Amino acid sequence: MRRPIDDDSLPAKVDCLIVGGGPAGAALAGLLARSGHMVLVVDDGALRTGSPLETLMASALQSLDRCGLGEIVRATAEVDRRRHGARWDADEVAWRDEGRSGLCLRRGVFDDGLRDWAVKCGARVLRPATAVELPDGGQGSARIRVAGRDLFIEANTIAIATGRRSVAVLASAEIVEQGPPTAAFAFQIEAESETGAVAMVTAAPDGWCWWIGDERGGARLVATVDADTLGEPLRAVVDRVLEYAGSAFGGRRAAVLETAVRATSRRATTPRGYWLVGDAAATLDPLASQGTEKALVGAESAALGIRTALANPALRGLAIAQHRRWEHELYQAHARTTAAFYSRVGRFAERPFWARRSQLPPSPNFGALPHRLVRAPDLLEGPMLVRHTEELVLTPGFARLAAEPIARIGRVTVAPLLAAFARPRSVADGLAIAGQDPRLFVMGSAVVRAAVVELWRAGLLIAPQID
Ligand SMILES: Cc1cc2nc3c(=O)[nH]c(=O)nc-3n(C[C@H](O)[C@H](O)[C@H](O)COP(=O)(O)OP(=O)(O)OC[C@H]3O[C@@H](n4cnc5c(N)ncnc54)[C@H](O)[C@@H]3O)c2cc1C
Repeated sequence: MRRPIDDDSLPAKVDCLIVGGGPAGAALAGLLARSGHMVLVVDDGALRTGSPLETLMASALQSLDRCGLGEIVRATAEVDRRRHGARWDADEVAWRDEGRSGLCLRRGVFDDGLRDWAVKCGARVLRPATAVELPDGGQGSARIRVAGRDLFIEANTIAIATGRRSVAVLASAEIVEQGPPTAAFAFQIEAESETGAVAMVTAAPDGWCWWIGDERGGARLVATVDADTLGEPLRAVVDRVLEYAGSAFGGRRAAVLETAVRATSRRATTPRGYWLVGDAAATLDPLASQGTEKALVGAESAALGIRTALANPALRGLAIAQHRRWEHELYQAHARTTAAFYSRVGRFAERPFWARRSQLPPSPNFGALPHRLVRAPDLLEGPMLVRHTEELVLTPGFARLAAEPIARIGRVTVAPLLAAFARPRSVADGLAIAGQDPRLFVMGSAVVRAAVVELWRAGLLIAPQID
């Protein structure tokens, strides 16, 4: 029998139930609570970080400020004063001197700080508590286990922010994209003061490792290898990577293994109306060192969608699709950048670890733009939500079957461009016609032409069959 909540201090019904109180879940909770929504976070209390010490690049701070998260992230993190270097393309160290400092996150302390902030914003956090069953359709009654008892929480909408562990345990999720199986091992190293202020990534034949000197003494060392090495224990491969990394690290193998995690990049979706946020939506390759940054910025994308859906329930499906596109585009951009970064390590190009990761995702239609174009005959058309400053607005979207719909390319609205190529025209004539549209004539012709090229690459404009 269902036992209702008997803790008077907990709300019987919430606007949003967030499963998982890591960076994604806590940031989402604070942002929603700040706009007056009743939010409950359930977190099982088990910190599962890949590395207890993470970095946040200086370039992330501007996006975090825009999302309203900059202040709390700065207050909860430390300034990263390390000198960053890489032994990547060559054995010599290349130092990166950006001039601006990023941040260093002590996971655990950082997560606690974000959850405290969410509570100050008005969210409730139940910890330790585990979501064990979620309702179909992403709303309704969720079963939460707290201290051996089951509680039922009624939620208007549910966000899953459970990290990189499979979402499928809770919802019928599907992995739609996945990188090579990857494992990451994090070690704690005893105090060795002379390397304290250095962070260094080193390529080795069977993986790479990342040394993060701890300004308080000692260091963290993360080694990343293939998770499916045949016939050889993973730990032996990890030791080889550390050995190769050279005297700077090899001499410090009095290292204590802290965590070993699956770190395979992958993107998931669920057909059941949930919001997937942070690593639960898309886990980046650890080489990016940007998963927490994405979790925080993605929380703001989800918060905007959830606010829209709570205000207008008819838009819920479109708002979820908008957030899913955000995750998709970011995941693909990261996949391309990471592959380009792996492919720079030419000296190990033949080794399986590097060969598997250096292939760029295929991009269709990278030849010359045809002289004449026409709108593809099988385009699907329907409304979609797109972001316009701080709100989501309905706009006509266009897609090929099974592809993500497109409403805009950068700032360019695609509807007038597709209308201009309703029948075959030269690119110049189509651009001249589209340029009459009030949405486009204020834009530079190079920007609009670039959008035509993107539409052709995406297959929404094609070369006419009979010209
Ligand atoms: C080796 C390695 C190094 C990395 N280094 C960096 C870096 O330097 N910089 C960076 O930005 N990113 C880095 N990342 C990525 C970063 O760690 C993740 O992207 C980030 O933790 C994602 O945050 P999240 O909130 O989505 O998930 P998580 O941090 O995993 O949080 C999920 C939370 O949900 C809880 N939970 C899970 N299931 C349930 C359930 N059923 N009920 C209740 N609670 C549940 C968990 O206990 C946890 O608290 C690294 C990753 C790896 C593997």
